[in-house]
Amino acid sequence: MTDSDCIFCKIAGGEIPSDPVYSDEQFYAFRDINPGAPTHVLIIPRKHIAHITDAGPEHRDLLGDMLLRANEIAVQEGLTEKGFRYVLNCGEWGGQSVFHIHLHILGGRALAWPPG
Ligand code: AMP
Repeated sequence: MTDSDCIFCKIAGGEIPSDPVYSDEQFYAFRDINPGAPTHVLIIPRKHIAHITDAGPEHRDLLGDMLLRANEIAVQEGLTEKGFRYVLNCGEWGGQSVFHIHLHILGGRALAWPPG
């Protein structure tokens, strides 16, 4: 299911252009338009889920598969030797600005902790 008002549904559907990294029936991955690190990829399910907390047991396989697919992208992007970070923001205080779940894959430099 897609949401006609959702920018990430439109990106996954090809209505809005993006720089693709990976695509299959379940997932789409693309480069962040405003990268926070030398490598900054977003992986999204094609299915529209607004917040991670909207996910339920019916999404168990989808979420597991998304992480495993992200691992493959991290390998493909050459991030695994030095290390990298996954980020999934939720809600206003979590810094979520697009309300379609997306896992940030960030790497290519040493990343500070804790986040701001
Ligand atoms: P978040 O703040 O966790 O919701 O992350 C949303 C991310 O989407 C931000 O890092 C934005 O830079 C990125 N973003 C927003 N619009 C686009 C776009 N059209 N193409 C690629 N990345 C985008």
